[in-house]
Amino acid sequence: MNRSRTPIQAFLRQLKTQQTEMVELLGRFVKCESPSHDKAAVDAFGRIVAEEWKKRGAKIQIIRQPKRGNQIRAEICLGQGRPRGQIMILGHLDTVYPAGTLAKMPFRMAHGRAYGPGTFDMKAGLVLALFAVDAIRAAGHYPQKRFVFYWNSDEEIGSLTSRAAIEREARRSDAVLVLEPPIGSQGRLKTARKGVGAVEIIVTGRAAHAGINPEQGVNAVHELALQIARLMKMNDPRRGITVQATVVAGGTVSNVVPAQARAEVDIRYTRVSDAPRLDRALQGLRPILKGAQIEVRGGINRPPLERTAAVGTLFEKAQSLMREIGVNLREASTGGGSDGNFTAALGVPTLDGLGAVGDGAHSPGEHVVIRSLPERAALLAGLLGTL
Ligand SMILES: [Zn+2]
Repeated sequence: MNRSRTPIQAFLRQLKTQQTEMVELLGRFVKCESPSHDKAAVDAFGRIVAEEWKKRGAKIQIIRQPKRGNQIRAEICLGQGRPRGQIMILGHLDTVYPAGTLAKMPFRMAHGRAYGPGTFDMKAGLVLALFAVDAIRAAGHYPQKRFVFYWNSDEEIGSLTSRAAIEREARRSDAVLVLEPPIGSQGRLKTARKGVGAVEIIVTGRAAHAGINPEQGVNAVHELALQIARLMKMNDPRRGITVQATVVAGGTVSNVVPAQARAEVDIRYTRVSDAPRLDRALQGLRPILKGAQIEVRGGINRPPLERTAAVGTLFEKAQSLMREIGVNLREASTGGGSDGNFTAALGVPTLDGLGAVGDGAHSPGEHVVIRSLPERAALLAGLLGTL
């Protein structure tokens, strides 16, 4: 008896013949700009994506949003009969690039790479998902699972309008596969991500002449400097905690004691259990100088994605699939957060970084490596076919 090809080999063979179509679709996606803050633009892009899923027979649900882009939920069951469980595939429609970026940074191909705003983070991921489903169909492989593709619209600005819906869907799922970019030229998956917080500290003092009556003023910049010194003490790199003042502003002219100052602060942490303590410390900031007032806005936002045993098992599955096509897949941890942080915190096994190989997210050199597209789509198809 001949040993038949394993599904992932069949998927890859099929997908390699579609590399050009994958790049064409990526081009169409990139040419429809979708900045997080531009509802009309994100909605227009969402319609193109939804149309592609409709062509594949998916059941589409548009989750309408008044201010942000609408989110898209595409459900597909390839097998006959009642599905045994659900897999959620997660990604986002929005990019960090303001409208008009394409004029300076057009979609283009060079040296085996496809460049353009949002190629890597993460319109290529959206392309992979569509072709993974095609490959499963073409191979005549019909898993008895419900696949829910959830495309969020405000990931790049904290997922404030989409978090609850993502969590609801994740709770119904056996696993979550996240199509965010991988790490490095080998496309390592992300099995650990730091948790993220963001606060704004607003200081109000009292203005006075810096030469004539400084004692009648309350220096908001001095107060802010003292607060930042206090925040710096919260850093604990060995525990994976970093606190960085990233933006500061204050004062008006050089001979006036400033009445206003503000800072933005970025917080990252590794362990779920550190979140309450960090949040308490941030919310508990009190003025140091007499007469100064401070207001703290924001707090801890995304919990960390911890590499639990279930996350490890999911990664090993991906690794053994890639071994079948001769690729040594590896894993890595990152300080950046994604929607995978939310789903992992619910205890749902989450595997992140399944997007196309590339580099330069959020920068003028953003690109994906074209020949990675069939391989990464095959990996996704392999996971969907075997989980
Ligand atoms: Zn992203």
